Amino acid sequence: MERTLSLIKPDGVRKNLIGEVIRFFEQNGLRIVSLKMLWLSKKEAEGFYVVHKDRPFYDSLTTFMSSGSIVALVLEGESAIKKNRELMGATNPAEALKGTIRGNFGGGIEENVVHGSDSKESADFEIPYFFSKLEQI
Ligand code: UDP
Ligand code: MG
Repeated sequence: MERTLSLIKPDGVRKNLIGEVIRFFEQNGLRIVSLKMLWLSKKEAEGFYVVHKDRPFYDSLTTFMSSGSIVALVLEGESAIKKNRELMGATNPAEALKGTIRGNFGGGIEENVVHGSDSKESADFEIPYFFSKLEQI
């Protein structure tokens, strides 16, 4: 069993997709072990995406990620990291397969509905960024 961090980004919350996204994870074998709704400050978004701090899209991305409520989830399952990335689809919704979350609902390269850890190392940083030990049931 493996765990990964998922975020429903502000565009996903604004589009009323919380239930749809969570149901999609559950129907595809990922179990929700932690869940919360919160609104990141710009600084908190910058800390979360620090790996991208030298990328041209960093400022815009962190402004977007602090523009509204998000939902943070820890998902568990066999190969959960890879599985979640498959369910999410490609970063650019225009390239994402139909039937994936981004393929179905993504508005653009930035507003692509969900985040998912891309490796074990990322998950080990990202899960405790949002959830204390007590919250990781
Ligand atoms: N992003 C962007 N422009 C780009 C690439 C990425 O705005 O050219 C945003 C997009 O919201 C993406 C996030 O930055 O989800 C993180 O980028 P990454 O390459 O890690 O993509 P992901 O892991 O989310 O698929
Ligand atoms: Mg990434």
